[in-house]
Amino acid sequence: MSFTNFNLNPNIAKAIHLCGYTEPTPIQTLCIPDILKRKDMIASAQTGTGKTAAFVLPALHQLSISKSSNKVRVLVLTPTRELANQITDATNKYGKFLQLNIVSLVGGTSYRQQFKKLSRRVDMIIATPGRLLDHMKNHALDLSSVEILILDEADRMLDMGFVDDVSEIASHLPVKRQTLLFSATVDHKITHILKNLLKDPILIDLSLEKLTPTHITQELYIADDIQHKNRLLHHILNNKNIFKGIIFTATKANADKLSKELSQLGHLTSPLHGDLKQNVRNRTIEQLRRGKIQYLVATDVAARGIDINDITHVINFDLPRLPEDYVHRIGRTGRAGKSGIAISFASRHDIRMVEKIERFTHQILQREIIVGLEPSSKSGMAKNKKNKQFNVKHKSRFKTKPQQVGMPKKKVSAPLQKAKNNHFKFKKKSKAA
Ligand code: AMP
Repeated sequence: MSFTNFNLNPNIAKAIHLCGYTEPTPIQTLCIPDILKRKDMIASAQTGTGKTAAFVLPALHQLSISKSSNKVRVLVLTPTRELANQITDATNKYGKFLQLNIVSLVGGTSYRQQFKKLSRRVDMIIATPGRLLDHMKNHALDLSSVEILILDEADRMLDMGFVDDVSEIASHLPVKRQTLLFSATVDHKITHILKNLLKDPILIDLSLEKLTPTHITQELYIADDIQHKNRLLHHILNNKNIFKGIIFTATKANADKLSKELSQLGHLTSPLHGDLKQNVRNRTIEQLRRGKIQYLVATDVAARGIDINDITHVINFDLPRLPEDYVHRIGRTGRAGKSGIAISFASRHDIRMVEKIERFTHQILQREIIVGLEPSSKSGMAKNKKNKQFNVKHKSRFKTKPQQVGMPKKKVSAPLQKAKNNHFKFKKKSKAA
């Protein structure tokens, strides 16, 4: 399969060539032809799979073929500012040779600048729902000519409570339009809540393929307490060959604290979380991209959508609250086909979350131990090589099939159940020891 098969506008093809893309990724191969046929679509795919280009390229093609009007014709809604910025950058890159006006409307940026941009001709808007609604309420926006509505990371928009905003925005768009919904996971909740926005959508599911990212090695270290986690982290930062990394914490305060501690130890690090001003967040991400810092200490929302190709490691200092977030976190490494390493720390209290992650990803996290920094037996999980061998052996058996959109949740597979049972057996054993 080659990009030429899509018959995209030659100016888009030229830009793709400049990006160095030789062939479409699976999500692009599956989505682009149907989007070009103007079909509605629900597609589940993770970031890192090339999904931005999967919807941006056909949207740009649509803008390039029909006659231009002075009104907005493509609207992309996305949950976070970082994602909106990332999509805007990608769109400018792919649309480099088309004379289009693409405007990003996100919070944390001055209204005045945005009003100024909106006073000119605008072809495409990439926005977070709250800021877009503000502009709509100020009558600064006419969305009556939108031909394509794209909802990116729809699951996260629902999680962040944007459902009413999205419905309200959609109610101001023409009924006759194309609607594309992209989401890391597509379940009953999403299809039920958002189905009214779509007409006979084509369903494309690549979620589980990405959930078994063979190019990301996943390791788990058991920690007794926070001090133990700190010792493990210092050892890893000093001994592993980390080029760039993101360290995830559970709270904004922890991100600040840990970043400060690591800086004091001589590591080049900065915090990244929602309490920081947007320009500070942008600058921090840019510093990591340029190698001015080596580590981000980040929370989930702020780090979502970071697209830096040479992040070699993701470290979950604290585990996320949702297994979906685990997948998003580890997807910050192993970008564009490169390999990556995801390291997680878990305490005894996190065992249920580890199990949830393993069930969700259909993978067992490989238990690792650092000699001299072993967990005490009361931690209740991996302590010796036996456990490590067990996990490695079972890992390769977890073959998954893509799940149908709207189907009931998959039951735990037999091998996974067996692995779980053994895991519990092991836990009992180590408790007795
Ligand atoms: P995304 O999933 O949209 O966040 O994209 C992840 C990364 O893949 C970005 O750095 C893109 O530039 C890159 N990418 C997108 N499409 C392709 C392609 N067809 N070939 C190589 N890299 C790509």
